[in-house]
Amino acid sequence: MGGKEQVYVDEAFAGNWIAPIGENINQFEKEIESFSDCGHAAALSSGTAAIHLALILLGVKRGDYVICQSLTFCASANPIMYLGAIPIFVDSEPDTWNMCPVALENAIAACMDGTVAKNHPSLMPNNEKQKPKAIIPVHLYGMPAKMEELMDVASKYNIPIVEDAAEAIGSTLNGKACGTFGQYGVYSFNGNKIITSSGGGALVSIEKENIDRAKFLATQARDDAPHYQHSVIGYNYRLSNVSAGIGRGQMEVLPERVKQRRANFEFYKNSFSHLPGISFLHEGEKVYSNYWLTCMLIDPKLTNGIDNDKIRNFLDGLNIESRPIWKPMHLQPVYDSFPYFGTDIAEKIFEFGLCLPSGSSMSEDDRNRVVDAVLSLF
Ligand SMILES: *Cc1c(COP(=O)(O)O)cnc(C)c1O
Repeated sequence: MGGKEQVYVDEAFAGNWIAPIGENINQFEKEIESFSDCGHAAALSSGTAAIHLALILLGVKRGDYVICQSLTFCASANPIMYLGAIPIFVDSEPDTWNMCPVALENAIAACMDGTVAKNHPSLMPNNEKQKPKAIIPVHLYGMPAKMEELMDVASKYNIPIVEDAAEAIGSTLNGKACGTFGQYGVYSFNGNKIITSSGGGALVSIEKENIDRAKFLATQARDDAPHYQHSVIGYNYRLSNVSAGIGRGQMEVLPERVKQRRANFEFYKNSFSHLPGISFLHEGEKVYSNYWLTCMLIDPKLTNGIDNDKIRNFLDGLNIESRPIWKPMHLQPVYDSFPYFGTDIAEKIFEFGLCLPSGSSMSEDDRNRVVDAVLSLF
């Protein structure tokens, strides 16, 4: 926590606004809007809820195709399934580990010319040609995706983008905040993210009416009537005013958190850069990553067989937690029967990658402990 969170939570208690409505929610949304210059924001119960609502607002229905980055956390893709739509997974490119624009265009073409339906008769028994309804790229681990290239492809086919910036609040591309490139942007304030409201998320859009509609759907879609009347199906997806108080306090320390995460990255990179077989992501031109997590690739052919699992287990024995990279969706038991476009980039990142301890509160001593442990193994 940064300091002011408890004050805002106390205000909610003092005013007895223990509800999914109140001043903390209004202010939290304003903070998100001014920080990211996103236009309009709706504070929601989770980032997953934000993706779900974005797809609903784009009219995604049963049997529609939705393209999604394969190398991500399952929450990017699960809302596609909530709607009975069909996820089409796309590989990453090696520079940012995010959606590959070339594989994206191949996927769109195969949806539109009927190849996807032909090759997956159980998914599309009528052998339909369909244009995908939405594209979900992700800024994985805070590293901005190649949005310009992705948007060129998306606009060529006139397909809207839902930008999963759950891990990337505070990251920018050409000075523009991640989450503000697509028709919709998604942030998460889950407990594991760079800032947290203990659980929560936000949907953002430049269009006010989109966000008004999202807030309507997120509060059980109550029509404007004195009695309880409903013309469409709604959801209970609003954020609590108590949680929003935490989020409000966290927004004040976001720039500091980004600095701390970036310092972790610099430290690890400088400490390990002399080791053959170890490599890190780096920021391309006009790219600024929040480096939510510091990740590295380890090529065991160049490290005398020391691989990511060996390092992870060794660290674990010293009570230091590190983690594998997200396992690509097209390799998940629940998703491996769905179409996939690309080669083995995402798979290789999963095979060789490791997420290092990356908390904002890590001291120099903590980081040295991790570095010394890894160096001793080498
Ligand atoms: C955390 C996360 C989400 C979901 O956010 P929640 O607030 O946990 O629902 C979606 N996508 C990615 C890439 C995430 O890391």
